[in-house]
Amino acid sequence: MKTNKAYIAMTEKYSARNYHPLPVVLVRGKGVWVWDVEGRKYLDMLSAYSALNQGHCHPYIAKAAIKQAKRLTLTSRAFHNDQMGLFLQKLCTMTGYTKALPMNSGAEAVETAIKVARKWGYLKKKIARNRAEIIVCKNNFHGRTTTIVGFSSEAQYREGFGSFTPGFTIIPYNSIQALERAITKNTVGFLFEPIQGEGGVVVPDNGYLSACAKICKRKNVLMIDDEIQTGLGRTGKLFACQYEKIRPDIVIVGKALSGGFYPVSAILCDNRIMDILHPGDHGSTFGGNPLASVIGAAALEVIKREKLPQRALRLGTWFMEELKKIKSPIIKEVRGRGLLIGVVLKKKARPYCEQLMKKGILAKETHEMVVRFAPPLVITKKELQWALPRIAKVLKDARR
Ligand SMILES: *Cc1c(COP(=O)(O)O)cnc(C)c1O
Repeated sequence: MKTNKAYIAMTEKYSARNYHPLPVVLVRGKGVWVWDVEGRKYLDMLSAYSALNQGHCHPYIAKAAIKQAKRLTLTSRAFHNDQMGLFLQKLCTMTGYTKALPMNSGAEAVETAIKVARKWGYLKKKIARNRAEIIVCKNNFHGRTTTIVGFSSEAQYREGFGSFTPGFTIIPYNSIQALERAITKNTVGFLFEPIQGEGGVVVPDNGYLSACAKICKRKNVLMIDDEIQTGLGRTGKLFACQYEKIRPDIVIVGKALSGGFYPVSAILCDNRIMDILHPGDHGSTFGGNPLASVIGAAALEVIKREKLPQRALRLGTWFMEELKKIKSPIIKEVRGRGLLIGVVLKKKARPYCEQLMKKGILAKETHEMVVRFAPPLVITKKELQWALPRIAKVLKDARR
């Protein structure tokens, strides 16, 4: 049964239908390229929502992972392991924070940041019991747990899953005034994405984040920066918030922190915040396990050695200019930063993604009308040059 169709039928029979994937079954990946079960080759321009910044099956990470898989994989945090400290030292050194708390999925790290911010509020701001508030933005995406979808503005993410956790206030994105107005005496944090990836690659105005940082500082509110998708080089800097020279109180990382090998996430902050946690306050069986730690350290090493942020900046800036040159009646806007680029269409993007697939390019629609181009950061100019005429051909066809 070596066809895409057969595997899809089997998957659909046994799995929940909570996704609508492109009809392609992948069996192998190397760098920016993937192969399907029928032997066709594709350029991956999604990178698993930026978890594959280092490319598929990066040999340096693979080697480290295999070696550690044969040595020690899991201790739980009931005991120490010899790898977690090394990983967190590297993560803190690279990012300039003094402490890191490792988790697994991105959503778990967001939950961790919420818990830390709330407890900080009760202990340090002396907020009345159960009154802590966190401000979030409309059109956000922070994950899929019940608490997180509870403060989503996307109807489908919420519908049927209530009731939800109280204590969140939703304000418009990119409005400095709205933040200023929403802060109350109970506000402990402002949780935001420096670019809204799932929301359609929405880039806020220059100066927005630095103005928010000033407000948060003045009002003693923690600035909580979700860099799960934008971080670790994707937008042309290690963190997208660095475009505005700000230093958030808490940074959340995930996705590319493992180079796609395994779920690894973390929150970063300084002692004054992290020290509010005491033994028993929070935990995760797999968080910080030695296999994850080795993979995380290797993934960071690749980002540094291969200068992935610099690559993303150079190639992304050039690629976005080329995309802007495509003359098509259905393109509304091309926007983004580094190699996180959204092409906003005047029509539904899904049929265009299906056409791109037929031309050997895997991209996925986000927010219905946007095609996101976010290839692994190890991509070369030559490979982008290969993709451009194919993308142009598909996007010029107004009939889809
Ligand atoms: C993907 C993503 C998450 C959730 O990460 P998971 O690993 O899917 O739980 C959270 N925030 C942002 C900005 C993301 O892009």
